Amino acid sequence: MIDLAVESERLERASPEERLAFAVERFGRDLLFTSSFGAQSAVLLHLWSVVARALPVTFIDTGFLFPETIAYRDALVGRLGLTLAIVRPDVARADFVARYGDDIQQRDPDLCCGLNKVAPIAPLKASARAWVSGLRRDQSRTRSGVAILEADGALVRVHPIATLTRDDVARYLAAHDLPEHPLVARRYLSIGCAPCTRAVAEGEDERAGRWAWSGKTECGLHAPKAS
Ligand code: SF4
Repeated sequence: MIDLAVESERLERASPEERLAFAVERFGRDLLFTSSFGAQSAVLLHLWSVVARALPVTFIDTGFLFPETIAYRDALVGRLGLTLAIVRPDVARADFVARYGDDIQQRDPDLCCGLNKVAPIAPLKASARAWVSGLRRDQSRTRSGVAILEADGALVRVHPIATLTRDDVARYLAAHDLPEHPLVARRYLSIGCAPCTRAVAEGEDERAGRWAWSGKTECGLHAPKAS
């Protein structure tokens, strides 16, 4: 049994690689790692390739992603020697749009995320003991209180790069010669599905371009406590 508060506090002083190694050692194949292959994903993907290359990286293909994200995913998987596990919603994009309308993201993004992001991962989440993701505290106000380890029911959430800043990420990418997502050059600093992502202006939070027309800030996969 892990005392999450104690371990999380201890891991505050560890490096991202040490935090990830702790999770891999502790949970092994019961560790779920999801990546959006978004703007800053290459850091955690690189760490994964060092610490846990034998374990899969799970990618949720909602059907609404940018083609640049798919190309970036394939390039990184090849470069880092990762094993990719792709999950998809039960209803493909064309049928989904025919059923709910092509403005469904504007009218009800929670429904769309629920069916296309949260539901596909639910079986994997149910069978996992821990879930690694790349949340960082400086991404947005709602993520500023993310701990290294957090309880989510019976699941342990693991955030190895929670303490990295955007500048730290840039330095890590440069130090390891990792490519940026091609849309970052156009100031897409947090990249989700195409209908729900815009570029951000100077001074805005990284995630300000996500569901920018609404008050929605998270897709429902990760629900950090506001601080
Ligand atoms: S991010 Fe937008 S398109 Fe993607 S699943 Fe959520 S609402 Fe749907």
